[in-house]
Amino acid sequence: MIKSKNLHKKYGNLEVLKGVDLEINKGEVVAIVGPSGAGKTTLLQILGTLDQPTNHHYELSINGKDLKKLSHKELSDFRNKNIGFIFQFHQLLPEFTALENVAIPAYIAGLSKKEADTKAAEILELLGLKNRLHHKPSKLSGGEQQRVAVGRALINNPAVIMADEPSGNLDSENAKQLHKLFFELRDQFNQTFIIVTHNEELAEMSDRKLIMKDGKIINT
Ligand code: ADP
Repeated sequence: MIKSKNLHKKYGNLEVLKGVDLEINKGEVVAIVGPSGAGKTTLLQILGTLDQPTNHHYELSINGKDLKKLSHKELSDFRNKNIGFIFQFHQLLPEFTALENVAIPAYIAGLSKKEADTKAAEILELLGLKNRLHHKPSKLSGGEQQRVAVGRALINNPAVIMADEPSGNLDSENAKQLHKLFFELRDQFNQTFIIVTHNEELAEMSDRKLIMKDGKIINT
């Protein structure tokens, strides 16, 4: 489902990725772990098409689509429809309600406001936030904010959700709930996840734990 070969990334003289090969199957929950500075976030950003490798001879495809061949505009379209992102800090838009925050990627994908709002409400209900649809992020708890971010990641039925330290800002009870939710979404919808995490419990629950060190995955 996701295939990468020979990803390299340099910032000036600093070689942050030193040739990463990776294959991830549909419905897998894969954790990427390793010390700070190992290159985990950089890898996730490249897999998520938010950033590009600095070498030329690499491969990167999602669902059989060769991402190297896409223009800037095609990439942002592809990203909107196929990749959901969850960050450590929810990155919700403060002026918009939970419902609007979840619906925005669907508006961008071309759904009518009515269709997008209906779908967003269904997702928020599934996530246990039925009574929070019209709350702005500042009126939600940390756990609720992060569940809204999960809703936003899910709304366009992405091929994969990529999460960077999604529970890094939550207390342990909310972190547990969020992790449980990821596995429920996998079991119910065969949702694929790639998760960068320092959370040992999440890494141990995952189907596969990839360990990064010094710009390489050391245990494929
Ligand atoms: P991790 O997620 O494993 O902590 P990162 O991918 O964030 O690692 O960073 C890997 C290395 O790349 C670090 O040394 C970091 O300082 C460096 N780095 C990351 N992004 C940039 C950037 N935009 N410019 C320069 N150096 C960067």
